[in-house]
Amino acid sequence: MIEQEYPLSWKKENFSIKIFCSIPNIATGILLRTDKNFFVVDPGDGILRDLNNEIGMKGILKISNLFITHGHHDHVGGVWSLLTYLRVMHKVTPLSIYFPKGCVEIESIYNAFKKVYSKTLPYKILLKEIKDSTSFKSNGMTIKPFPVVHKEYLHDGITTRQVPALGYKFTFNGLKICYGGDTAYCEDLVINAKNSDLAIIEAGHDEDTPDEMHMTKKEARSIGETAKKYFLVHVPE
Ligand SMILES: [Zn+2]
Ligand SMILES: [Zn+2]
Repeated sequence: MIEQEYPLSWKKENFSIKIFCSIPNIATGILLRTDKNFFVVDPGDGILRDLNNEIGMKGILKISNLFITHGHHDHVGGVWSLLTYLRVMHKVTPLSIYFPKGCVEIESIYNAFKKVYSKTLPYKILLKEIKDSTSFKSNGMTIKPFPVVHKEYLHDGITTRQVPALGYKFTFNGLKICYGGDTAYCEDLVINAKNSDLAIIEAGHDEDTPDEMHMTKKEARSIGETAKKYFLVHVPE
């Protein structure tokens, strides 16, 4: 069942967000805009195409920050191509990549990228590992990271492990957007989504039997309804 019609957009004053897509195991891609800046959240596969359609080359070169919720491929699959595009198109301003501590996928992509291109890179990449929930400011926006519960199966298909995973609350001019990333129902998301101007809540579990990876629609709605407006995303298609 297709619940969402992508892209999903929201705008208030000069703070806006566009979710190009959010399909579990396939791809996510989100663009945040303030008056002067562009930020990309969870650049999955296809992000370059979507950004190019939306803001063109000049806009892409202005992107100042990437925010990664976790290292699953449907959230980081577009990082390599985005970094390479910025090199080819000669970005000069720095790019900060925020990611949860222990996210080996981002560390590995970064290390491989540096290995291949460090001598010919016209812009600086600032790797910003997030270790705790301390709020910080970047390019005019306030960002509050928070831990979420998101597990994955190990090789045996039975055992699970928690992956380094974050949600983010983005605040600009008093307006708040809360994005939980991939998560099971958890208190930190409940607290951060509440009273947000927009909550973006995943409902990646298609049956009514919650697990520790994703939420059911019922769980997701119960959180979304505490915000002024909400989108359900990451619903299996
Ligand atoms: Zn996902
Ligand atoms: Zn995931």
